[in-house]
Amino acid sequence: LIRFENVTKRFGDTTVLDNLCFSVQPGKHVTLIGPSGSGKTTILRLLMTLESPEEGTIQVNGDRLFPAPEKERREARKQIGMVFQQFNLFPNMTALRNITEAPVRVLGMSKDEAEERAKELLDLVGLGDRCDAKPTQLSGGQQQRVAIARALAMRPQVLLLDEVTSALDPELVAGVLDVLRDIARSTDITMLCVTHEMNFARDISDEVLMFDAGKVIESGSPEKIFSEPEHERTREFLGAVL
Ligand code: ATP
Repeated sequence: LIRFENVTKRFGDTTVLDNLCFSVQPGKHVTLIGPSGSGKTTILRLLMTLESPEEGTIQVNGDRLFPAPEKERREARKQIGMVFQQFNLFPNMTALRNITEAPVRVLGMSKDEAEERAKELLDLVGLGDRCDAKPTQLSGGQQQRVAIARALAMRPQVLLLDEVTSALDPELVAGVLDVLRDIARSTDITMLCVTHEMNFARDISDEVLMFDAGKVIESGSPEKIFSEPEHERTREFLGAVL
């Protein structure tokens, strides 16, 4: 479903992704781990077309994101939703309106249909009773759950999660991870997560990709990566974070 082929991304003199190749099969949950600055967030930003690569091709479901004519890129991009570290909700809209805005404006969904779907999604994330709350009236964990519902409202085939719990107070992390576990189990959505929560990575992932210096240096099942890492850098990294 997602395919990176020989992707190189530079910022000035710094090569952040170095001839990177990897793919994610439909419905799989793949987690990217690795030291700070190894290029994990850049991968998600490329998929959202917030950055473009210097070299290489990126495809989603057979549609090209890069290099691609604008129309094909838009089609590919529509299949992807993202949840950010800093929820990024619209501050002056209710939870419900945050979720209905894009389906109505971008997909042309009727307001009634969008609201019905938004209520279902708020139920799914455990906030069925907070439709009318504004972001400031919600805790960080609740705001992040609204952001997850908002991403799902566009019916993406791929959900990108960028350190979605790292801005949260520790006691709010579990609730958000529980919601994501439920979504991983109960839907066939493909997930690509960047996380520092190794227990979550172990629990949710079909495959873990270990990054270092813009390359995948090791990949495999969570059991293999966490219990029997082959690469010295992976052992060092896990030694420092576990
Ligand atoms: P972290 O776990 O700390 O978020 P990461 O693996 O996600 O790290 P990236 O955020 O992808 O790493 O960043 C990789 C490198 O690219 C870093 O050295 C960062 O400073 C650099 N970088 C990222 N975005 C930009 C930008 N817009 N301009 C210049 N350099 C950037």
